[in-house]
Amino acid sequence: MKQNETSVLVTPVSDRIVGSRPSHVHTCLTGGETHTWNCNSPYCEERETQCPAHGGFEPIVQGREPWRGR
Ligand SMILES: [Zn+2]
Ligand SMILES: [Zn+2]
Repeated sequence: MKQNETSVLVTPVSDRIVGSRPSHVHTCLTGGETHTWNCNSPYCEERETQCPAHGGFEPIVQGREPWRGR
């Protein structure tokens, strides 16, 4: 069974799920119509934030905190 795979995305997919931590849903108000995106960063405070595809910030991934250095 072969599916036609293209990399064209009709709607920006900005889910930022890393690992198996519990996720939450953000609401992005940019882009003409409100849409939601999933994320499981433990550092999010706001839930109404732009998704990364619309110029929002990238959620901080646990274990890759910028303040930790590398
Ligand atoms: Zn988040
Ligand atoms: Zn968006």
